Amino acid sequence: MLRRTEGIVVKSFPYGDADLIVSFFTLDFGMLKVFAKSPRKIKSRFGSSLEPFSRDTVSFLGKEHASLPRLTQADIVYSFQGLREDFGTFVRATELLEITAGLIPEMEPHRELYAMLLDTMRQFENGGIQSGKGQTGRVQPNAVAPNAGYSNRVHVNGAQANGGANGVQSRWKLFYKVKLLSIAGFSPRLDGCLKCGKKGSVFHVNEGAIICPGCSADHSAVNAMPSNKNYILLSQGAINLYEHITRWRWNKLGRIVPPQQLVDELDALMNEHIRFRTEREIRTRAFMEKCPPATTRVPGL
Ligand SMILES: [Zn+2]
Repeated sequence: MLRRTEGIVVKSFPYGDADLIVSFFTLDFGMLKVFAKSPRKIKSRFGSSLEPFSRDTVSFLGKEHASLPRLTQADIVYSFQGLREDFGTFVRATELLEITAGLIPEMEPHRELYAMLLDTMRQFENGGIQSGKGQTGRVQPNAVAPNAGYSNRVHVNGAQANGGANGVQSRWKLFYKVKLLSIAGFSPRLDGCLKCGKKGSVFHVNEGAIICPGCSADHSAVNAMPSNKNYILLSQGAINLYEHITRWRWNKLGRIVPPQQLVDELDALMNEHIRFRTEREIRTRAFMEKCPPATTRVPGL
C-alpha cells in the first residue's frame, strides 16, 4: 500500500553499496524508518532530499509493522540549509532530532510535537528573528510577558538578547525538551518531593524527581555533591522557569526570555534526565523487540 506524508530527515545510515536506511519524524506516522534504494548513486531521484533536517513530502510502500517500508519518493519542501552552515547550530539541531528519536516510539503519530519541532528549527535558522514569510508562525520571540518574572532584561532584538543566536537556540532547545518530555510522558517532577510533596531542591536522576532530605534514603544527597551525577542541586529560579515552560502554551513561549544562566542550569538537568530515560527506553524497546521475534526485514532483498 502506497502512503504519503511529510517528514523531517532525522538520520540515515548506509545499507550495502548504494542503499540507505533513513529515519524520518513524520506528521502522520511519527518516527518512521524506511529503506531507500540507491540514493547514494549519482543522479539518484532522491537528490539531496535525504540530508538530515530536510523537510520532505514522502511516499513509501509497505505493510505497517510487517517490514521496513520502501521509500518511493522524497521531495524537499524546505531544506533547512541554514542549520548545516554553522557548526554550533548543526550540533544543537542534531540534538533536537536525536532526543526526539530516543523518546518517541516508531509509528506513533505526534502531530503537535511535529509542529513544535518545525517551529524550533525555524527559530534556530533565523536566530529568533521573525522572517515575515510565515516561517516563524505565531510566536513573538522578542516580546517579554510582563508577568513572566524575567521582564527586567533589555532586549535590543531577538538575535542580540541573551547571548545572540546561541542564546535564542539554547532557549528554544530547552522549551522543546520540556514539551517533548511532557508529550512522551517522561516529565521530571520539580514542583515538590516525589514522596511527600514538600518543596525541595535536590533532583534524583534515577527517580526523575525532587526528593526532600526527610524522604531521601541516601543522606549524601542532601548536599548534592557536584561530582555525583545522580543528584543535581537546583536553584529556585530554575524550578520556577521549568514551571513556567510547562504551564505556558507553546505559541506563547517566545515571550519567556530567561537569564542564560537559568537556561543552562535547567538544560543540564534535562540532559541528565533525558539520558537516563532514553537509555531505559532503548533497553525496554530492545526487550519488547525480542518478544515476539523481530519481523523487520528489508523488502526485495
Ligand atoms: Zn519528602
